[in-house]
Amino acid sequence: LYNMVQDLKGNIRVYCRIRPPFRSDTKNVIDFIGEDGSLVVLDPLKPNKDGKKLFQFNRIFGPTATQEEVFADTQPLIRSVMDGYNVCIFAYGQTGSGKTHTMCGPTGASRKEMGINYLALNDLFDLSNRRKDVLKYEIFVQMVEIYNEQVRDLLTGDSASTSKLEIRSCTSENGLSLPDATIHSVKSTADVLNLMRSGQVNRAVSSTALNNQSSRSHSILTVHVHGKDVNGGTTRSCLHLVDLAGSERVDKSEVTGEGLKEAQYINKSLSCLGDVITALSQKNSYIPYRNSKLTLLLQNSLGGNAKTLMFAHVSPESDSFGETVSTLKFAQRASTV
Ligand code: ADP
Ligand code: MG
Repeated sequence: LYNMVQDLKGNIRVYCRIRPPFRSDTKNVIDFIGEDGSLVVLDPLKPNKDGKKLFQFNRIFGPTATQEEVFADTQPLIRSVMDGYNVCIFAYGQTGSGKTHTMCGPTGASRKEMGINYLALNDLFDLSNRRKDVLKYEIFVQMVEIYNEQVRDLLTGDSASTSKLEIRSCTSENGLSLPDATIHSVKSTADVLNLMRSGQVNRAVSSTALNNQSSRSHSILTVHVHGKDVNGGTTRSCLHLVDLAGSERVDKSEVTGEGLKEAQYINKSLSCLGDVITALSQKNSYIPYRNSKLTLLLQNSLGGNAKTLMFAHVSPESDSFGETVSTLKFAQRASTV
């Protein structure tokens, strides 16, 4: 089973992905990328030995890594969902660092440019088809966003309805932590693409100085897999694919009102996520799931037998150096390597 290979690699993994530079004239802060997952960044203001910082992750994907290469390393994890394991995959990083590129692909992506969300579902359908003589699988999806600590359904079909959803403990009747969010049975990747498109449209966007399409919410695509074998035995597992809100620190002197409130909520939920993953990687007995909606919602897929993968995204440009270091520190804290 896919899971045996996974166990050897541990339940929490952290990969770093570096976006290609936007402008070829800027000095790149990436100094060294190691095959073994090491990464050295260089402070543009201290271009000598003192300005070098070393980080260690499970793997680094450089600017030339393709979507397929990134997916190839993620695939075994997705396959363990078919064996009954819960999995969470996060895209973390400042706005513009490539989170949505990794999870969804560029806007209007061709098949070759599709991100993990699509490739993962494609793979789940593929496996379900290959196992169909011994196991019958049913696949369902939900898609929500968390904005200012409120959970909203992105697939209601009624975008005017922004009713807030309650998170239930994982012991609710149907086993769903969001029993009131719409749940869609999917039979093909075409079904999934349609749902993902309407979900994207519904996702709250508001402008920031960095990027006027910047998403200030966490978007979560949840895939539920129900398996039934010939003897009537059943498995239930889920895969959460999470495109987090931008992690950039906001200058309090520049934003006020709504913008400041958004920034504070994002800050709090990302630091709660960091605390939970760090507590899990240190095998602490107390895991602070209840400190944010995000960790509460993902509780059944973080810890225990569940598997977690975090992609730390960084921008290579020198003016992003501060954010790059802060992303790498966050990711390093979550990592067990
Ligand atoms: P984020 O979601 O973190 O704000 P995006 O995924 O929207 O960032 O990426 C910002 C821009 O950079 C987009 O135009 C995207 O297509 C491009 N981009 C990001 N990562 C890559 C990559 N690995 N290869 C090519 N283009 C990328
Ligand atoms: Mg994005």
